Amino acid sequence: MPLDRKPAPNDLRAFWMPFTANRQFKSAPRMLTEAQDMHYTAADGRQILDGTAGLWCCNAGHCRPKITEAVQSQIGVLDYAPAFQMGHPLAFELANRIVDIAPEGMEHVFYCNSGSEAVDTALKIALAYHRARGDSARTRLIGRERGYHGVGFGGISVGGIVNNRRHFGTLLAGVDHLPHTHLPENRMTRGQPEHGAHLADELERLVALHGAETIAAVIVEPMAGSTGVLMPPKGYLQKLRELTRKHGILLIFDEVITGFGRLGSPFAAQHFGVVPDMITCAKGLTNGVIPMGAVLTSAAIHDAFMQGPEHIIELFHGYTYSGNPVSCAAAIATLDTYAEEGLLTRASELEHHWQEAIHSLADHPHVVDIRNMGLIGAVELAPIEGQPGKRAFDIFVKAFEAGILIRVTGDIIAMSPPLIISKDQIDELIGTLGDVLKNAA
Ligand code: PMP
Repeated sequence: MPLDRKPAPNDLRAFWMPFTANRQFKSAPRMLTEAQDMHYTAADGRQILDGTAGLWCCNAGHCRPKITEAVQSQIGVLDYAPAFQMGHPLAFELANRIVDIAPEGMEHVFYCNSGSEAVDTALKIALAYHRARGDSARTRLIGRERGYHGVGFGGISVGGIVNNRRHFGTLLAGVDHLPHTHLPENRMTRGQPEHGAHLADELERLVALHGAETIAAVIVEPMAGSTGVLMPPKGYLQKLRELTRKHGILLIFDEVITGFGRLGSPFAAQHFGVVPDMITCAKGLTNGVIPMGAVLTSAAIHDAFMQGPEHIIELFHGYTYSGNPVSCAAAIATLDTYAEEGLLTRASELEHHWQEAIHSLADHPHVVDIRNMGLIGAVELAPIEGQPGKRAFDIFVKAFEAGILIRVTGDIIAMSPPLIISKDQIDELIGTLGDVLKNAA
């Protein structure tokens, strides 16, 4: 519908909403107007318990004073500094702070503004790394089915979600995919599933098909979040690490969701005891307050670029807002908050309570699978025949009416509350969802 007049501020037509059924939303909008700690306030004044940390990003909860004040004061001191050929102290300080909590071996930080940019940055670094070492035939990238790596052309190419791929042309050339690891025999597993480590061997098949010397990198989410909270089977990531190392292929962990405490360690790499060559992160880096992403790399990758004449730019890549001072201030205050409140390990303290609570939904109508780890979990529902996604979407709407924010993808309900959640609030979240499920069609 064209805008036939200058829209009033409360006219909903101008904003084309992302990943949203716009017409449906605008006919019955769900608006959030304020937030504090574990709660949003809806436009009608109701308190909504945040079961998703916004969009998997507000790990310390909402409107935390330390982060708010850091942003407010930084804007008044140094609002912006050119990102290329100029520096400011906070960008260096933050990089050191990230390396401090990163897995052993991750020693350098490249800044960007989102998870999608972090993914594209990591893929570009992988390609340029091999080239810098004279191994320029390594141009193939390998992702995984049911992987979500954001919406840049790199990310949708290595990603494994048909709807995110099929409308956008031929995507990047030279990309292949590993199979996903979501096996029916792992249904109702608490924590890491037993079955599926062998699926990492599919990399050997791709090596046999393409030749190892043509493959630059494998990118996976250590735990796939957006496609339904899919846990890595025991031993799977270890195998992927062994095989990538054996064949000289870089391993990238996309930790945009799992970074900053979601599984009970700063990064999932530490939780699973597997160190990749690069880690992408965003979201929890600034507690969602200011857009920021980063790629962490090993010294070997960084150093491969530091060889030529000193006056030549080593990597022809970067963003106007790479390491923006206000983003850096937000991130430093966020890391301070995580450290002061023990939030990067809190998910492991709450894991048992969370696990028992979410698995108490097993006998509810339509529930076919439940999965959990750290402070993340999913409840998968049987779809209504011929209407995939409808059952879960209706539950999402009813849950919002009942005062909780959950997330749905297809017929999977995903939850990842802020890491400050109390046991009582976990019970409230799951109890309310249980009531909604009982009454679901
Ligand atoms: N990678 C992963 C694993 C993600 O979960 C997401 C976002 N959900 C992204 C990349 C993209 O991040 P952004 O939306 O900040 O671009």
